[in-house]
Amino acid sequence: MELNLVMLGPPGAGKGTQARQLRRRWNIPHISTGAMLREAVQAGTALGREVAAIMESGELIGDEVITRVVTERLAQPDTKYGFLLDGYPRTIPQAEALDHLVAARAPLIIVEIVLSEAEVVRRLASRMVCAECGINAVGEGTTCYDCGGPLVPRADDREQVVLNRLKVYREQTEPLVRYYGKRPTFCRIDGAQLPDDVTADIIREVEKHASRIPI
Ligand code: AMP
Repeated sequence: MELNLVMLGPPGAGKGTQARQLRRRWNIPHISTGAMLREAVQAGTALGREVAAIMESGELIGDEVITRVVTERLAQPDTKYGFLLDGYPRTIPQAEALDHLVAARAPLIIVEIVLSEAEVVRRLASRMVCAECGINAVGEGTTCYDCGGPLVPRADDREQVVLNRLKVYREQTEPLVRYYGKRPTFCRIDGAQLPDDVTADIIREVEKHASRIPI
C-alpha cells in the first residue's frame, strides 16, 4: 500500500508534531520543507543563502524553487510506499505542481488541521526548533528528539513575524482548502484537542480513506 499524505493547516497547528508520530505508524518519510530549508540556511548552501532573508520575514519562497526541492525529494527511493508532506504545498501553483508530480501514484490524502489564530499565536510564542537539524519541537525538553542538538526559539516565531505568517497563510495557503476540499480523500481534524487525540483522529480518518484506495 502507498500512503501519500499532505498536512494542511496554519503554522503551529501541529503538523510537524503529528507527522512525527504518524511516520512511525506507517513507516513513511516525514518531508518538512521548512526543516529542509532551515537545514540549507544552517549549512550555508546556495539555496540557504537564497532563502534566508525571505524565511526570516515570514514570506514564502518562490514556487519554482520549493517545487524543485520537493521534486528531488520525492524522487528518493524511501518515498516508494508514500510520504508525509508537511509545509508543501502552500500555494495553488504548488498544489498543481504536486498533482502533476504524483499523477502516477496513489491519490493524495489531505489532512487539514484546524486551529484558531489566537491559539496559533499562543503556541508559537513557546515553540523551539533544533539548532542543528532544523526540526520543530514543541515543549519537549532542551535537546532535539532526532539528532540531540540544542533547541532554540525559531527566528520566524517572533510575534511580528508570526502575524505576517498568519496573513500569508490566510491569503496564499487557505485557498488550498477549497482546492482540495471536494476530494473524497480530504479530511478535516480539530487541532485544538490534546496531541494524542489529534493523532488518533488522523489515523482513523486516513486509514478509512486508505482502505478505499485501489492498490
Ligand atoms: P515552516 O517550517 O513550514 O513554517 O516553514 C518555514 C518557512 O520556510 C516559511 O515561512 C517559508 O518562508 C519557507 N517555506 C517552507 N515551505 C514552503 C513552501 N512550500 N513554499 C514557500 N515557502 C516555504
